[in-house]
Amino acid sequence: MARKVYYGPLVDVSFDGDVCRHAAECVRGMPEVFNTSKRPWIDPVNADTAERADYLREVIGRCPSGALVVEEHPAPAPASTPSCEVSVIDAPEASRFEARIDGVLAGFAEYQLTDQLVVFTHTEVDPAFEGRGVGSAIARYALDKLRSEGTHKALPLCPFIKGWIERHPDYLDITYGARPAQAQ
Ligand code: SF4
Repeated sequence: MARKVYYGPLVDVSFDGDVCRHAAECVRGMPEVFNTSKRPWIDPVNADTAERADYLREVIGRCPSGALVVEEHPAPAPASTPSCEVSVIDAPEASRFEARIDGVLAGFAEYQLTDQLVVFTHTEVDPAFEGRGVGSAIARYALDKLRSEGTHKALPLCPFIKGWIERHPDYLDITYGARPAQAQ
């Protein structure tokens, strides 16, 4: 089983069922987030204040197996950042969407084109530009372009694009094989 990510407003949580020892530290510690009788059984949406998010980190720290991991959201850009403007273009000769900040390549999403699909295979953001919305800008630009052209659907093999679409279910209609239930 692959590690699966559950999204919350302050922190995300990932879980690997293969290593879980079912010690139930998580369920005992924070039943409003870990509830095996619900689907999904992990719901970080309920860790919606800084205090609860801290407690969630503490509970996950007690997981004896390492099955649970806190996935911190990127830190917001510091106020002194000179420019945050991300410009995105399609660079079909390189089979990728490219994002630039102040003319410098900040990240890209590689794809392969078929008759009906844009298959997203890999997304990368330069660590120097992390936390500035580069990945998100690429995803939004690429998917808006697909929607406006109306000829291809997105097939997100890349975990970043897949996760982004899961957090933005209004793009499921242009995602190959997606059903509204996958928006959870
Ligand atoms: S605390 Fe960790 S090992 Fe225990 S049930 Fe939860 S996920 Fe599994």
